[in-house]
Formats: sequence, C-alpha cells, structure tokens
Amino acid sequence: MNDNGKQGDSGKPRILIIGGVAGGASCATRLRRLSESAEITIFERGPYVSFANCGLPYYVGDVIADEKKLLVATPGLFRKRFNIDVRTQNEVLSIDRHSQEITIKNRKTGAVYNEGYDALVFSPGSSPIRPPLPGIELPGIFTLRTIPDSRQIREWIAQRGVERALIVGGGFIGLEMAENLVKRGVSVTIVEMLSQVMPTLDADMAVPIHNHLIANGVTLALGDAVSSFTEGPGGNIIEVATKSGHKYTADMVILAIGVRPEIGLAREAGLEIGERGGVRVDEHMRTSDQHIWAVGDAVEVQDFITGSWINVPLAGPANREGRIAADNILGRKVKFRGVQATAICQVFDMTIASTGTSEKVLKRSLKSGQSIPYEKVFLHTRHHVEYYPNSTPMTIKLIFSTTDGRILGAQAVGGEGVDKRIDVISMAIQRNSTVFDLEQCELCYAPQFGAAKDPVNIAGMIAANALRGDAPVAHWENADLDGSIILDVREPGEFDTGHVPRAINIPLGELRGRLGELDRNRQVLVYCAVGQRSYYASRLLLQHGIQAKNISGGFSCYAVWKQIQSDSH
Ligand code: FAD
Repeated sequence: MNDNGKQGDSGKPRILIIGGVAGGASCATRLRRLSESAEITIFERGPYVSFANCGLPYYVGDVIADEKKLLVATPGLFRKRFNIDVRTQNEVLSIDRHSQEITIKNRKTGAVYNEGYDALVFSPGSSPIRPPLPGIELPGIFTLRTIPDSRQIREWIAQRGVERALIVGGGFIGLEMAENLVKRGVSVTIVEMLSQVMPTLDADMAVPIHNHLIANGVTLALGDAVSSFTEGPGGNIIEVATKSGHKYTADMVILAIGVRPEIGLAREAGLEIGERGGVRVDEHMRTSDQHIWAVGDAVEVQDFITGSWINVPLAGPANREGRIAADNILGRKVKFRGVQATAICQVFDMTIASTGTSEKVLKRSLKSGQSIPYEKVFLHTRHHVEYYPNSTPMTIKLIFSTTDGRILGAQAVGGEGVDKRIDVISMAIQRNSTVFDLEQCELCYAPQFGAAKDPVNIAGMIAANALRGDAPVAHWENADLDGSIILDVREPGEFDTGHVPRAINIPLGELRGRLGELDRNRQVLVYCAVGQRSYYASRLLLQHGIQAKNISGGFSCYAVWKQIQSDSH
C-alpha cells in the first residue's frame, strides 16, 4: 500500500476495482502477485469478467463458434487462483471521495450497498457512440461491445435471415464486422463520414484498403454521413438516409463510429477530466485524487511522440496501465511511458498496422504551431524474398523528423509480416531511435521470413539516404511537376501502359549514355514503378552534377495520389 493509504478494519489494504475486463482484471491479478494480504474486489456491471472483446467480431462471423472461448477467466477462477472477489452484475453507482466509499447496485437482487476502500481503481472502459439520429432506437440497429451484444447480432442474423447489412463507420471495428458479415454471406455497405476508412492512417495508405474492400464485394460510401433511420415496409427492414441524399435498405445496421470514455462516475466524483474527455492521470496512473487510480479506455495519457494528451482505446495500453497502477498502489514507483497507438487489424486477407504519429496529425500540429519538421518515405516491397514461393506485397510508410532522423510513425498495409515490421518500428520509437538505427538494425532472416536487407532496413535506408542528401526524395502532391523534368526510368513497355503526363522515358539501363538529353539547369524528378530503379537513377544523376530527386513510391504512389484526387471530387 502506498504511504498515504489507510488500511481496512482487518488491517489489510482494501482495493476496489470498477470494471473487470482488460484494465481492471490485469490490475487485479498484478495486485495479487505483489501482495498476498490485500483485499481485492472487482465490481463488474455486466455478466462476465475478463472476456475477449477483441474476439467479438469473429464470434459474429462464426470464426469463433463457441461463445465460451471468449471467456478468458471466470469469477470462480479469480477466486480460486488469485483469491480475488469478483462481483458480476454489480454496478458501481457513485464514488464518495470524502468517505472513501463507493455505492453499488446488485443488478440481480436490486440491493444497494456501500464498500469502503483504501485504493480505488477506475477501469470502466468506453461505450460505443450512438448519435441521437431519428430512428436510432429501431430494432436491428446494433453496437458491439459485449458478449450479449454479439449474441444479439448473431440471433438477429439467424432469425431474420439477414441479407444486407449497413455498417456506419469505417474504423477497425467497422472493417472487422464487414469482413465477418461478408463471410456469413451478407452483402455489406459501409457508410463513412470521412473520405477514407481507418482514420488513424493517412489517406495515401487507406487507398489500397478501399480497393481491397471493393474487391471483396463491400460497397463503400465515403464522405457521407447517416442522417436518419426509418422502419421499412412490414417492419422487417431499415431504410437509411444519408446527408448527401442517398437511401439504403438494410436488414441490419451496425454502428461503429467510435467510442467515448465512460467517465460519468469520475466526473460526478469531481475527478479531473482532460481535454480529450478522459480521466486525467499522472505517469503513475493516479488521478487527481491520491486514493484513486484510473486505467484503460477511460483515461487520457500522453502521446509518447508529441507529448500531447491522447485517448487511445486499445487493449494493449489498458493492460499495461492496469499493471502499472497495481505497482504504484503497492508502493512501486513505476512510470507509464505514454502511448504510441500501435494497432493492427485484418480485413479479408489484408493486414493493416500502424504505430506512432500519422502525417495528418503532424500537419494538424503544424497548424497549431507545435510543429515537428518531418519527412516521409514509401517502400513497396514483398514480405520475404521474391524467389521463395508465396511472397506477398507490402507497403510501408515511414515518417521521421528531419531535425535528427527520429522515427515519428509508420504505417504498413499488406499480407503476412506487416505485424512484425510495425512491431519492430514501434519498439524503435519507444527507444527514441532514428532512421539511422533502422538502417543498421539486425533482424532475423531466412528466405521464408524476410530478406537479408529486411523491409525495415530498407525503409530506414531510404529515409537515411534522404536525410544525408545522398538521395533526396520528392512527393507527387507537392513536387514542382511543372518546373522540373519528369524522368521515367522504367522500360518502354511499362511506360506505354501508363505514365505521368509530360514525363520523358529513359530506361535506367540507357541513362548513363543519354545524359546529354537532360537540361542540366533544371531539377529532374525521377520515378519508376516503386522507387528502386529511380533511386539508382537519382544517384547516377547526382554524381554527374544533375540536381535530381527520387519520387518516393514511384508510379504506385502516383496512382494512389490520383485516386485520392478523383475520390475527393
Ligand atoms: P473494458 O475492457 O471495456 O472493461 C470495462 C468494464 O467496466 C466493462 O465490462 C463494463 O461493463 C464495466 N463497467 C463500466 N462501468 C461500470 C460500473 N459503473 N460498475 C461496474 N462495472 C462497470 N483493442 C485492441 O487493442 N485490439 C483489438 O483487436 C480490439 N478489438 C476490439 C473489438 C471490439 C468489438 C471492441 C468493443 C473493442 C476492441 N478493442 C481492441 C478495444 C479493447 O477491447 C479496449 O481498448 C479494452 O478492452 C479497454 O479496456 P478497459 O479495461 O478500459 O475497458
């Protein structure tokens, strides 16, 4: 127990925990591992503790067929293995900070009672946003947070013979639900207010996801917002209207437009709430009350890179924060490092992962005057050497500081091996590493896993080359395309299948002998299919005194840029 904590009547510290899933459960078991004497009680409003919310979309999709598999631990296991008292269907109604007591309602019996605490842990999570739109309460409109939610969705699909579903929101829960419903034979439309899905990614990395969703039969309605729901004929279908005037008909609607920290109790108790709507905690996960700690989706913590306050509703931070709160409650002074929002999701067979800051966040901070000067590079590669069978394509976007090369963020889209690359870069970010570290980092290699120069090394090399001035990069969206020579160094056959307007074609193999064709007084912007041959070309040109820049990501990025432009019109 910490210095200030009073002890319960038994002389044992009484630690009460509100919420028994990711943050609450991990805090409870860590507490027990550190103290055999603490009295630990978890209050959980719902019927289950420690269940796998991340597995719920796959239960809807029948990938996980047995509901019991979602139960990571039961109250009985908590009691037997950890001597932790778990009270499910017991909802905490209020916190009295003065008397250090909470009021609880037993939802099974209706009884209301109080419990005193020496330390209180607040881990109530976040609730799915349900905007007050006309018709939002109609049957058949679901959110997904709990096992009963997923059970209801399954039952609705089975009983109503659902053929068409409309998903509102293209974040990771929306996309995972899209995949799982398609796998169940349901035709899916996603309506997303932004012009892209996966809002944590930059638009250029979302384009391949759009194409992949469409290729898998999902209808995408981007840049549009749902405005109302009405009951269709016979009460069997829902008619969905959008702000742009479109109308959709669906047998079921899933709302997946984000979550909001559940901070009602904390606010009423007078705990400090931050600008992002989460409970403010210090680096020890302690709230503005010295006897109360808070963890998980309900808190806001500091962004590891920008230092700004951020609310990241992910299971990893919730679990780590729970552990750190336990350490600090029992007197170990452990600091939470902050969050980088390292996240991953899979849609059909595409893996999408990111860590750290995105370019759009950096652009926003530029506007608010807290700018970090940055550069980005793109790498289109394969997850392992091409000569070994079944390599799959992967695109990595690496964002780094131009001041010192510090890595600020990375996003990757592909198949296998995306997780590994983003995890490596995530750890590099946590250690304040630079692109020069990525260039040199030693990673495991055999043909079926990667390459002797792993994609992480290559991304680091491209970035380091740019920073050292060895191979400066340019980007389609802001390059001086009118004032420069645009040089396409692909083979003529590739050039003929599509090229950038005004580009001249000199294949890499001929470039050395045809330098005289280039006006030495003008900048040359070089591109190829993905950026590799144009890198060789730009090195060649620079060494001949010609000012050259490699357009990062090459013609592949040009296609993406054009698609973003046409989608926004
Ligand atoms: P929760 O795990 O939500 O637990 C909070 C608990 O507190 C709830 O069970 C609630 O009933 C209870 N509670 C609230 N108020 C009270 C009260 N007054 N009294 C008693 N009990 C109360 N994250 C990932 O990192 N990867 C994923 O793949 C992923 N997939 C997800 C898929 C879905 C469908 C959902 C819903 C979430 C997913 N998440 C994922 C997010 C992740 O589950 C959460 O970030 C994490 O569970 C948050 O932990 P928490 O302890 O803060 O809240």
